[in-house]
Formats: sequence, structure tokens, C-alpha cells
Amino acid sequence: MKTIIEPFRIKTVEPLRITSREERERALKQAHFNLFGLKARDVIIDLLTDSGTGAMSTRQWAALMMGDESYAGSESFFELEQVVRDLTGYRHVIPVHQGRAAERILFGILGAEGKKIPNNTHFDTTKANIEFTGAKAVDLPLAQALEPSAEAPFKGNMDLEALESFLEETPKEEIPLGLATVTNNTVGGQPVSLANLREVSRLYRAKGVPFFLDAARFAENAWFIKQREEGHADRGLEEIVRELFSLADGCLISAKKDGLVNIGGILAMNDGELAQRCRDLLILTEGFPTYGGLAGRDMAALAQGLREVLDPDYLSYRHASARYLAEALERAGVPTVKPAGIHAVYVDARAFLPQIPPEELPGQSLCVELYLRGGIRAVEIGTLMFGGTDPATGRPTPSELDLVRLTLPRRVYTQSHFDWVIEVFEDLVRDAPALRGYRIVREAPFLRAFTARLEPL
Ligand SMILES: *Cc1c(COP(=O)(O)O)cnc(C)c1O
Repeated sequence: MKTIIEPFRIKTVEPLRITSREERERALKQAHFNLFGLKARDVIIDLLTDSGTGAMSTRQWAALMMGDESYAGSESFFELEQVVRDLTGYRHVIPVHQGRAAERILFGILGAEGKKIPNNTHFDTTKANIEFTGAKAVDLPLAQALEPSAEAPFKGNMDLEALESFLEETPKEEIPLGLATVTNNTVGGQPVSLANLREVSRLYRAKGVPFFLDAARFAENAWFIKQREEGHADRGLEEIVRELFSLADGCLISAKKDGLVNIGGILAMNDGELAQRCRDLLILTEGFPTYGGLAGRDMAALAQGLREVLDPDYLSYRHASARYLAEALERAGVPTVKPAGIHAVYVDARAFLPQIPPEELPGQSLCVELYLRGGIRAVEIGTLMFGGTDPATGRPTPSELDLVRLTLPRRVYTQSHFDWVIEVFEDLVRDAPALRGYRIVREAPFLRAFTARLEPL
């Protein structure tokens, strides 16, 4: 059989409102051509993010009802603690309301002016929480990670030579911890190999630096290790995951990704003293250590989500969906970032719309067009999101790349939804040379992409 079917059937349905082009034109004008300003009810296929947008299983919905809402000593906490200990091997498990709360607590303790924290590539909230403490977030990705068309099985790897020189040049007192992000979200959800992580771990340990994994997509990363890395094809995913975590001393997890829940996060580690300091801060900002920032039912649903996510049928289907979309786009003549990751397909908008210079926001132009034609909401990851502003002209200065991310929520859309997205693209290819750029008419001093107002040129 060559079709990989969705390994679930549908028990509850959430209706989609099929809007007309006129309705979408109106909604878009009201949103000042910024898709973050749309009401979700005006979107047909929402590919903005895979964070917290997944569908829960029948067992997770049942677990919600079983949640223990006791303030202290909740049964749901002990259940979650056990599942996380089994999965990671870490002794101390601290629930938080989402990934950035774990970041705020850990870096609040370890970060400070004059400190440096290396990573393959920091996710944006991770970088922001590190820099908020005065510390510096140091990115050490592979050079090829920045080339959209470069094919490599583990493009998310740490540049080991760069890490080695960084560790040689920097005094130990200046490095409170080292990180590695799996999968490497910022470079396109590209995986990190076990061999690379073993070396990273060895280098950090030789220097005496504690090593934490930013492990939001640990299951998807483990899937790629099993698929692509020599010697792992016959291993169980649990075993791979266990080895992955064993290389580090702790982890931060945004459970809104591979936790298969809509809200939640975990901070886990072996160091009891550090865990105690984290719990002290947790009480200040999140809540008592047996619930963190979560309801008992959230912890129960998360424990169940973590039991489900390593199902090879689920991961195989998820990977097949991403590949299906990426391959169809390539066939239609739409350049995508290679190889396709698993949580998203990235379109190289700068290459697709060469007539629009980066300062006229080709990614945004493509996002607007996808919405107008098909009610699809994608997200620009390019000059609007990460570029600067030229102080002389007030015009945007280009970011490294202009990408459009089509992010795949977990267990939400079926193959026919993706066929719709593919058709919209096929239709768009013919008119692509006629697309025009956008200009920013109002922007905030930071994180402008979320609230900028735009106008077609
Ligand atoms: C999503 C994410 C975070 C932040 O988590 P939130 O739950 O959004 O606060 C941190 N790191 C990585 C790699 C992520 O993907």
C-alpha cells in the first residue's frame, strides 16, 4: 500500500466556515493585510502554528474528567511525574503552563549579565528569555542550515567545531549551561542526529557545563533518528528517546507540541539543588509544585498525550502528510526548504516571487494571496518577522531568508484538506509573476510582525 492513511477516525467534528472570496477580502482589509489580525472564524485552513493547535484523543478527553484538582499532592501530578520520569529518566519533574515559563524560571536562576548560553539555534522565546536576564544567546547552527535547497539528513545539528572553539575561548564561569534544540525549530524544524548530540554532550561535560535539551519536538526528532540515522532503524522509539535525554542533565519542554495538548509545559532535571531553586521560583510565578501553572485535568491530558506521541503509526502518518504536501508543491513548481521537516513545510518565497525584492515583503505577499484564494492562513518567516528598519529611509532591511511556513497542527487536517492547499498553490503558480509587494504603514518597535499594518504596493 502506498497511501499512509490517518491512523484515527473522527468522533467529534468542528465545523469549518467556508467563506467567499468577497468575505475574505473584507476580513483582510479589516486586518490591515496582517493575517495575525484575522478572526480565526474567517480562516478555513489554519496553518499558522503547530503549537497548542492539535486534537486530543478519546483517552485524553477521558483523562480530563479524571483530573485531580487538589491544590497540593494532586494525583494527576504524580501520574505526569511518572510518565515524564519513564520517558526522560530525569528525577525532578516540574509542571509549568507552557515552554516559556520553564525558560523564565531556568534562565532566571542561571542567566545574568556577562553569561553566554550556546545552542544549535535558539527558538525566539528562548533567546528573548535568556537576553532578558542580560545573558547572551549564542547560535551555532551548521552553515548549510541557512541554504534552503541544501539537502542533508540532519540539518538541525550543532556545528561541533564552532561549539568546540566557543568552549575553548569562553571561561567556564561565563557558561551557566549549554542547550541543544530538538528538532531545531528556527532552521525549519530540522532534526539533530544522535551522533551529534553525543558529541555535544561530551563537549559540554568535558567543560563541566550542565546540558539541557529544549525538547518541544523530541518525538519527531526521534522519528527522524530511526528513519535516517545509521544503526537506529531497528530500535524502538522509546529507547531512542531515552538515550537522547540521557545525554543531557535536564530538559525544557513546551507540551503544546509533542505533548499533544493545547496548553502545558515541563521542566525536568537530575540536579536536586537546582530543582529546588526552580520550585521556589515556580511558587512565585506559576503555582504550587504539584500543579505549576496547570489545572489537574491539564496534567492528566498531558500524561496521556506523552503516552501516545511515540506511536509509530502516528509519527509515520504525520511525516507522510508533510512529505505529501512538500512533494506536491515541488511538482507544482513551488520551491520549498529541503528536506521537508515534519511539523511544517516551508516555501522559499524569495525564490518563488523573484520580482518582489525582499524589502517589499515577498513572504507576506504570498501569505495574503493564499488567504484570498483559499482561506489558508500561513505565516511569514522573513523580512516582516525578522528584518530590521533602515533609519534613513524607514524601509525594511531584509532578513537572511524570506520563507512562508505552512505549519501542520497535529491530528487536525486530513489529506483532502492538504489537497485543497495544493490546488490553491497550483492555481497560484500561474499568476505568481503578477504578484506585487507590500509596504509597512505602521509598526511596533519590537516583534512588529504580530501587529504591523500593511498596504499593497
Ligand atoms: C514552542 C517552543 C518554545 C516555547 O514554548 P511555548 O509553549 O510557546 O511557550 C520553546 N522552544 C521551542 C523549540 C519551541 O518550539
